This record gives sequence, structure tokens and C-alpha cells, in this order.
Amino acid sequence: MSLKICFVTAELAPLAKAGGLADVSGALLKSLLARGHDVRLFMPAYGSIDLTKLDAQPVGALQNLPVTIGGQDVSFSVLSVQVPNSTARAYLVDCPQYFHRAGIYGNAADEHRRFLLLTHAAFISCQHLSFAPDILHCNDWHTAAGPLWLRTLYQWDGLFEHTRSVLTIHNIGYQGVFAPTIADDLLPPHMHPALHQDDLRAGQINLLRLGLVYADMITTVSPTYAREIMTPQYGHGMESTLSSRLNVVGILNGVDYDEWDPRHDRYLPLHYGANKLGTKAKLKELLLERVGLEPAAAARRPLIGMVTRLAEQKGIDLLFDALPATLAERDFNLVVLGAGESRYEHFFQELQQQYPARVKHARGYSEELSHWIEAGSDMFLMPSRYEPCGLNQLYSLRYGTVPIVRRTGGLADSVEHFDFVTGTGTGIVFNDYDADGVRWALNTAMDLYQQKSHWRRLVQNGMAKDFSWQHQVGEYERVYQQLVDSAGPRA
Ligand code: ADP
Repeated sequence: MSLKICFVTAELAPLAKAGGLADVSGALLKSLLARGHDVRLFMPAYGSIDLTKLDAQPVGALQNLPVTIGGQDVSFSVLSVQVPNSTARAYLVDCPQYFHRAGIYGNAADEHRRFLLLTHAAFISCQHLSFAPDILHCNDWHTAAGPLWLRTLYQWDGLFEHTRSVLTIHNIGYQGVFAPTIADDLLPPHMHPALHQDDLRAGQINLLRLGLVYADMITTVSPTYAREIMTPQYGHGMESTLSSRLNVVGILNGVDYDEWDPRHDRYLPLHYGANKLGTKAKLKELLLERVGLEPAAAARRPLIGMVTRLAEQKGIDLLFDALPATLAERDFNLVVLGAGESRYEHFFQELQQQYPARVKHARGYSEELSHWIEAGSDMFLMPSRYEPCGLNQLYSLRYGTVPIVRRTGGLADSVEHFDFVTGTGTGIVFNDYDADGVRWALNTAMDLYQQKSHWRRLVQNGMAKDFSWQHQVGEYERVYQQLVDSAGPRA
């Protein structure tokens, strides 16, 4: 059955991306449209988005629409744009005073209002378009007011009588916690009883928690993470809120193989598949040259790649001990693309200074270099402390780049440790969050690398895996359908 879906997100690849949320939004939009659903995706018209090549069209019914947020009048307009490299279109919510800022996210006092406006814009646009969504799909704290408002602010409107809400947690570490003074921005005073009273007493408003309390269904981006966030170790204080819900559905993210496939990757000068691994070796040499490392010993010296936000979540702390020790013991190259916290940036800069011929740290963000690293590396390191899903290990599998991962979240669900005896498995998986775990994994990978037939088997096992959205989108459809089937008029 074709469904009407209103999808609200702070990020959409390739228009505005800070992390995995953007990739998921883009891929889910395309896949749901391809399955015949009517998907209206709303995201901010950030000032950084270059509209010139997007066939941007103002939507006639959605111009200069007023909203009042906490007594302040704001207005927005909506543009319909073509999502690059697809036939999909998306709605950009244009409000320069909120969205023409330096980055996607910021620290200004009105940060919450920017995303409340986005969420309001989705509701108000549906009203003006007479679009009665079966599903309101919100993502992370930014749009977590959606499920709350469906039950409060917009409940009067019969248009939403049958609408059911889904809230997807892409990363529970980011919750949108603000002072209780934002209560009036969220709801008029007579509706404040709908807010989370314990949070208010504790002197805060937690937008993600409100979404989790009011959503008709909660999903997250891998089955293991769905279980992990019910525990104090991974729940970031949300475990009790989540445990009071029936369940959290874990749906592993898929990969957009139009974008990420070495057989036709538009960023690469050469292309390869599982039976053309010589080309991958050539790309390794080109990558080494490109980043200024010595390609001479490339064949016997493994190249380890990393592309990551340099944040605590990513397990960089473990590398403080593990990498210098392993570099001193073993012969390998390391290419790291990543920016973030300065202590981590300093660590990699120093490592590069110490080993200028073997280590390269490219600071910053580069879509192109990230594709090159996936293609040219032999191994890809993700020692995450926690990882809701993770995308790079999925890309690595397709590129024949053996993932070395910690057994957590989506890494646990997508990478299977290689078994010498049976020849099964797709990567190297370590359990414990400590430096010895990483060292063991790196050494195991490098030992295997020297055993060419085992290595080839491992590489080809990974390349044969299919994590495409075609599979995963069916899981979202099941969730939507279950909600629609149970949807009478809202109580
Ligand atoms: P998270 O959302 O926690 O950052 P994910 O693995 O889910 O982690 O998604 C990260 C995405 O961002 C991947 O597509 C990855 O390639 C990309 N990425 C992260 N850092 C960089 C960078 N410095 N340059 C290019 N791409 C990056």
C-alpha cells in the first residue's frame, strides 16, 4: 500500500551533511519514493546549500508563512529542490535568520528554535498542501518535538487524525538539552503539563526525551544498538525512558551503492570489483602518492585507513597507546581523514610528525578523499566506544577494505570476525574497549594480510555482502504499516 510520509530531518546528503543522519535521510527518501510512497521531506535551507544547480522552485502555497515561537513572530517559505544524482525532490525550509549561519549546528542561544521552526514548518506545510500524512517520521533531538506536537499543539487539526509518529534515534549521545526557560517556545503555558515533569524539576528540557515519550514508534539504526541503549552503559541517561516503552526497533542502515561502489565510484580514476583486485592495488599506490606517502613498499606494507569525526565516541582514546606501540613494532602505513576535538587532532598531527613517511593525517572534511581512502586502503579501523550503526564499515566491505572494528552497535551487526578454519567472516572484530583489544586486532589483521590466500578470501567475503537500502527499506515499511494498521482516530 502506498503511504503518505512526512519526513523531517536536519541533514540530507549531499546538500547538508555532518554525519550518518544525512546519508540515511537521502537514501531512505530515494528508496521509499522508488517503492511508490508519497514522501515529503523537510529540511532547512542552510545558507551553505548552493541552490543554483538544484532546479529550486518556490512552492506557491508555502510563501511567507508566519509562525509564533515563544511569542516571537518568524516567517518561512518553502522551496522544492531536486536532490542531486536522483530524481527525488525535497522541501527546503527557507528562513535566513535561522538557517544562514556558519555551520549546520551551532551554539547560539536560539539553537533549539531553529529546529522547532523546521518542525513547525513541516506541520504547517502539510496543512497548506492538504497533505494528511499516514506517518510523521522525525529524526534525533532536532525534530523530536514532532511526536509531542502531534498529541498537543496540532491535535485539534483533523488533518492529522490518523497520523502516527516514528522517531529514529541516530545517536542517543545528542539529546537537545536546554534550560526550562524554553518551555514557552515549545508549548503555550496551558499545555506545559504535557512536558516531562521530572526533567523540569531537574531544571532542564530534554527534547529527545519528549520525542521518545510521545512517539508512536521508536526506531534506531541497528538491532544491537537498540538493545545497548536500554542499559546504563550506553543509554546516556535515557535507559529508563526507553525501558518504559514496549520496544525499540533496530533497523540497520543501508548503503547507497549509487554513491558507494568501486565499480562506478565517480570520485575514482579507476574502477574495480571482486575479480579485479589488481586495480585496487593500483589505487592504493595512487592514494599513497596523493597524500605524500612513499608508495615503494606498498605491496607488502598494509595501508590502514580511517575516516571519522574525531570525537570520543569514535574510540580515538584507545589509539593514544595502541597506535604508537603498533607503529613501533610493525611495518604499515596509516591515512586518517578527520576533524574534531583538538586533543585528537593534535595526537594525529604528532604521529604524522613522528612518522612522516608512514602516517598522514588530513585534517578537515573531504567527500572525495573519503572515497579514495575507502578504495585505496587494505584495512579500515573503527575502534568505536559506541556506534549506533556506522557507515564506513559498510562502505569498506564493498570496497574490499577489511574492517577492523569493536563489537558494538551496528559494527557488531555488520562485521563478522574471520574464521581461519571455515574461511567465513568479513573482518577483524575485538570485544574489549581497551588499547590491548585494538593492538590485538591490528596485529591479527596484519598477520592475515601476509597470508595471501586467507586475505583474498576475507576481502572477497566482504565484497559479496549486500547492505543495500532495498533490503532495509522493507523494515521501515513494516514499521509504518504496523502503525497504519493500528491507527484509528487518535485518542
Ligand atoms: P557519525 O554519523 O557518527 O559521524 P557514521 O559512520 O554513521 O558516523 O557516518 C559518518 C559519515 O560521515 C560517513 O559517510 C563518513 O564517511 C563521513 N565522514 C566523517 N568524517 C568525514 C570527513 N572528515 N571527511 C569526509 N567524510 C567524513
